[in-house]
Amino acid sequence: MGIRTGQAGAQLIDVPQPTEISDDQVLLKTLYTGICGTDRGIISGQLKFARPPAGSDFLIMGHEGLAEVQDVGKSVKTIRRGDIVVPMVRRPGGCLQCRIGRQDNCEDGDFVEAGIRGKDGFMREYFLDEEKYSVKVYDRSLGRLAVLTEPMKNVVKSFDAYRTVTRRSIAQCGDGSFDCRRATIAGGGPIGILFAMIFRSYGFDVQLFDRNDHLGKLSAVSEKLGIDFKVSEGTGLPPNFIEGLDVFVDTTGSPSVIGRGLEGLGHNGCMVLFGTSSGGGYQLTGDLITSLVEKNATIIGTVDGSKAHYIEALNYLSSWKGMFPGVLEDIITQEDDPENSISALNTKVTGEIKRVIKWADQ
Ligand SMILES: [Zn+2]
Repeated sequence: MGIRTGQAGAQLIDVPQPTEISDDQVLLKTLYTGICGTDRGIISGQLKFARPPAGSDFLIMGHEGLAEVQDVGKSVKTIRRGDIVVPMVRRPGGCLQCRIGRQDNCEDGDFVEAGIRGKDGFMREYFLDEEKYSVKVYDRSLGRLAVLTEPMKNVVKSFDAYRTVTRRSIAQCGDGSFDCRRATIAGGGPIGILFAMIFRSYGFDVQLFDRNDHLGKLSAVSEKLGIDFKVSEGTGLPPNFIEGLDVFVDTTGSPSVIGRGLEGLGHNGCMVLFGTSSGGGYQLTGDLITSLVEKNATIIGTVDGSKAHYIEALNYLSSWKGMFPGVLEDIITQEDDPENSISALNTKVTGEIKRVIKWADQ
């Protein structure tokens, strides 16, 4: 079974089960796939860069995967039958960045992404992949939480970028942690919560805001994390969230939210842009430009992540089971059978944070 999408809309189809396995390949049985805004943008026809593999008239969906290794080719060394792996999404093209394994920083757009553009995804019962794109999950106690590795690797890369650019001034506090710094996160989806967790884990005072509380779920998660959560009114930021910000992370893609965040940056402040935008605008003023210069402000955009970021993502997820008990579990609010996957892809239910499809028992 697979899910295909043509122009817009999706349907369940039969896809052939792979039989031949070449020397460098692994045969994977899908356990879980996650659903995110990108999937819904593809289904609705809004994401214009979505495309099927070359020579195919449909795309099998799914880029957040978790799978069990069923069989391995003769030359596969690091992965064995029975291992659990997270398949990587983006596969390299021919540019310099791609050739050194940093297709997340591709310079010419000549990459493909499983379930998004030019390569079939993971929403099917079995698929073949290469050893080098299968990231092994050593902590099997993560169970289905390991399906959060794919979104988490984006957060790890962004945090890495933030720490890199802030090395130009001293961001650490007296004890070497970041507990005198404040991070404000716009948007309480799965990515926003994972950003809140990574900043909190390094000691930041974290503020999270969203247009709604997802049936009280964001308040509950924020209490467990020891962070401040506010519901924002319209496009405005909560009034006490907008001054002297050390770091502002946008996961909404809203120009007005980002504009208010830029206005609120403090000295040596950093704006991290993660959310892509579906339109709108913001009037940049001369005063704001002067203020950003005078404050040594930085604006970073980041996308995707490298294999190392997947590995680090798994380390964070494992350590957070103890550091923030129950919070990762709270992110996955719904689990569906493959038979319900079309409805799950089409419909976001009230209170939903992350919806996953369970393909097989682990
Ligand atoms: Zn490239």
